[in-house]
Amino acid sequence: MPLGQYKGTYQQPNIFGYYGNFGGAYIPEMLHRNVEELKNRYLQIMYDASFQKEFHDLLKNYVGRPTPLYLAQRLSKQFNTKIYLKREDLCHTGAHKINNTIGQILLAERLGKKRIIAETGAGQHGVATATVCALKGVECIVYMGEKDIERQAPNVARMKMLGATVIPATSGSKTLKDATNEAIRDWINNPGDTHYIIGSVVGPHPYPDMVARFQSVISEEIRRQLKEETGSEFPSHVLACVGGGSNAAGAFYHFLEEFNVQLVAIEAAGHGVDSGMSAATTQLGKPGVLHGSKSLVMQTEDGQVVEPHSISAGLDYPGIGPLHAHLYETGRAKFLSATDEDALKAAFNLAKLEGIIPALESAHALSALNQLSFKSSDVVVLCLSGRGDKDLATYMKAMEE
Ligand SMILES: *Cc1c(COP(=O)(O)O)cnc(C)c1O
Repeated sequence: MPLGQYKGTYQQPNIFGYYGNFGGAYIPEMLHRNVEELKNRYLQIMYDASFQKEFHDLLKNYVGRPTPLYLAQRLSKQFNTKIYLKREDLCHTGAHKINNTIGQILLAERLGKKRIIAETGAGQHGVATATVCALKGVECIVYMGEKDIERQAPNVARMKMLGATVIPATSGSKTLKDATNEAIRDWINNPGDTHYIIGSVVGPHPYPDMVARFQSVISEEIRRQLKEETGSEFPSHVLACVGGGSNAAGAFYHFLEEFNVQLVAIEAAGHGVDSGMSAATTQLGKPGVLHGSKSLVMQTEDGQVVEPHSISAGLDYPGIGPLHAHLYETGRAKFLSATDEDALKAAFNLAKLEGIIPALESAHALSALNQLSFKSSDVVVLCLSGRGDKDLATYMKAMEE
C-alpha cells in the first residue's frame, strides 16, 4: 500500500487491536476474561495521574532515565555524518526491557494481581521481570526452555538471586516458544490473581500497544534531547534492531507520523537470509498467527513455525510485532538485515572507536550504517538497545578465531 493512501494512525491499533492487516487477539476461550480485563482497563490505568507519577519517578530514580543521547564523534567521522547513540545500554539491568517491566508491574498492582508470570529466551526479559517483582515484593515465576536454562546460566542465577522461581519448559525444542506455551497454560489455570508480563510488542491485543506505549519514553526523550542539542526535534533517520520489536517501537513511536523521518528496522539475517539459518522475518515470513496475534511469521508451506537462527538471542524469534508487519507492508519503515558476522564486526568497531561494548542485538543496528548512504548534514539516531556484558563469551570466541 503506498504511504499516502494509509489513513490510519501508526501510533494506535483500531479497537480490535489491528494495525492495518496485522494484530488482533487470537486466544483460547479460557483466556478471554484476562485479556478482556486488560483491554478494558490498560489505557485508563496507564494515563491516571498517580500511575504516571510513579512510573516516571521509577524511570528516573531506579532505571536511570533519561538515558543520554550521545553524539558519537569518531563513529560519525567514519560515516561522514552525525550519529547519535540513544544509550539504552545504560538502563538498570543493561537494556531497554526494564522500561516495559516497570510499567507492567505498576499495572498489575493496580489490577490487584498478586502473582507475576513471564516467559524468557536468553533470560534478559526474565531478569527485567524478576527485578521489578523484587522491587514490589511480588511472587515471580519465569518459564524458560530447558535448553536455554543450560545455555544461559548467568541469567538463571540472576533471576534466582532476585527471588524468582525459574520453571523449565521441557516440551518441543525446549526453547522460547515452548516457554511461551507454558506461561500461557499457567495463565489459563490462574486467571484471577496472575498477570502475564510479555516482553516485547507481541502477543494478543492490547499487549503490542501497551508495550509500545511504555517503551515510547525512548523517542519522547530523543525529541527533547535533539531539540536541546541541535535546535530541531527531528533527525533524518532513526535506526533500531528488531526481534519482537519493542526497542524499535519505542525509538520510532513519536516519529511514526513525522514522514520526513526515515525509520530503519534491522533484522537478524543469521548465516544469511537464504541460508536456512536466519531470523529475518519480513524477508522470509508470511501472514500467520503466532502467540496471539496475526503478523508475519516464518513458517513452512503447511504453517509449521520454522526454527529461527541468530547469534543474538534477543533477535532469535520467528515472528515480529504486528506494528512492524504493518510498517513493512505500508513502506513506512525500511527493513534491512545484518548477518551474525556483520554484527560481530560492528560490535568490535564500536568498542574500538567509542569505548562502548554493545549488545549483539544492538550491533545489528550498527552494522546497517554500512548499508545506508548519508549526507554530511544528516542527523542519525541509533537506538543502542543494550550493553554487551552478557555477550562476552561470544565476543571472546570471535577474538580467538
Ligand atoms: C531483547 C532485546 C532485544 C530485542 O527485543 P525487541 O523487543 O525487538 O527490542 C534487543 N536488544 C536487546 C539488548 C535485548 O535485550
